[in-house]
Amino acid sequence: MEQIIPEAAAPRVYLETYGCQMNVADSETVSAVLRRAGFTIARRPEDADVILLNTCAIREHAEERIIGRLSDLARLKSAHPRLKLGLLGCMAQHNRAALVERAPWLDLVAGPDSYRRLPELIGRVAEFDPAVDVRLDRGETYADISPDYAAGVRAYVTAMRGCDRFCTFCVVPYVRGRERSVPPDAILREVEELAARGVKEIVLLGQTVNAYRFDATDFGVLLRLIARIAGIERIRFTSPHPCDMTDSVIDAMAAESKVQPYLHLPVQSGSDRVLAAMQRGYTVREYRELVERVRAAIPDLALSTDIIVGFHGEEERDFGATLELMRAVRYDSAFSFKYSVRENTRAYRLGDSVNEAEKGRRLNEVIALQEGLSLERNRVLIGREFPVLVEGPARRGVGMLAGKTPQFKTAIFPAAGDVAPGATVSVRIESATGHSLTGSIV
Ligand code: SAM
Ligand code: SF4
Repeated sequence: MEQIIPEAAAPRVYLETYGCQMNVADSETVSAVLRRAGFTIARRPEDADVILLNTCAIREHAEERIIGRLSDLARLKSAHPRLKLGLLGCMAQHNRAALVERAPWLDLVAGPDSYRRLPELIGRVAEFDPAVDVRLDRGETYADISPDYAAGVRAYVTAMRGCDRFCTFCVVPYVRGRERSVPPDAILREVEELAARGVKEIVLLGQTVNAYRFDATDFGVLLRLIARIAGIERIRFTSPHPCDMTDSVIDAMAAESKVQPYLHLPVQSGSDRVLAAMQRGYTVREYRELVERVRAAIPDLALSTDIIVGFHGEEERDFGATLELMRAVRYDSAFSFKYSVRENTRAYRLGDSVNEAEKGRRLNEVIALQEGLSLERNRVLIGREFPVLVEGPARRGVGMLAGKTPQFKTAIFPAAGDVAPGATVSVRIESATGHSLTGSIV
């Protein structure tokens, strides 16, 4: 039941988001739910009646950061006793009992499937201490709620929620619940509205986004349907799972010019032994064959990945195999993480055989190797021209603009004439680092 609040009494809510792009997208949904119920959105915590942190539970470090932030906000609350503090998202779902113990000043705890009930829950804060709603709901897709998208040329649209894969290290299936896909008509309606507002690029989101299926619409079909929408120039998606990289998806990527030649394909480890212990569902050989298939189908493909170092039982030779795989695949970029034991996961009971210092050493080696590979991959692009979708001023450099190439590489170039965000310009690359390309409009 939606609770409508008269405008004069409209409480102001400040939303702070941690973690992945799914969380950013969820915060945009939360903002829409609250505004629909009569709340206003505050720009600063100091201006708010309610502060909500949308949290991440993927690694212990993420949780510690949020606990630290909560302590800061507790001080603000003691100066303003009427201020309400709430925790949303994965961490709220993950360890609500421990949380309430560590942060007794919390007024509200709500999991990722409870956002529709937030207005009501905020209203109940005075009754319950804290007000908690962490019911997971395998039917919840928020399909009828149009999120408050951030302004920009790119919008992130949730295609599916939850995850059914249960990789042994990962907390996502427990905190985000079972896999479910948003009906395609809701996605298409959303994308049409975004196109009408001038958005040029759509990023489809899901924990295993290519497992998308709604009746006869699989992910390949969804990509093709979105490609038909006038005004949308670029389509991307994250994160696909290697096991769900079907011919339907690869064919759609190859056939639809709007689907960009960039794939984030998390591998996690280059050792079959470790992959089996992680229950990832593929071997190194199968993964490499997949990479070959995708590269053969999509010329100029850029490839990135996720790597975990120091998983329980990872020995030096397993780690060596990960470095070897990185050299063989030659990723354009990689996100690498030290294994963090998560309560409730299948690997929790196994233990944590690699010590922190050793995890640190392995992580540094992965980062150093990838920096070299990224630089090599980018240097060969010098002299080539790419269509760059202009996003806005570059972070550094007066008079410089920034945007992305189709391969999702950042390109920086001097502003020229009336080139504005949303335009696509052809940029010739003149220099490269591991992180960006610099050039000029041709
Ligand atoms: N669903 C995506 C997939 O399977 O490829 C990944 C989603 S997860 C939010 C992003 C990344 O976090 C994973 O690919 C993995 O590398 C990392 N990750 C997940 N659980 C972790 C853990 N317990 N410790 C360290 N890194 C972890
Ligand atoms: Fe976690 Fe594995 Fe699901 Fe990715 S596929 S969200 S790593 S359980």
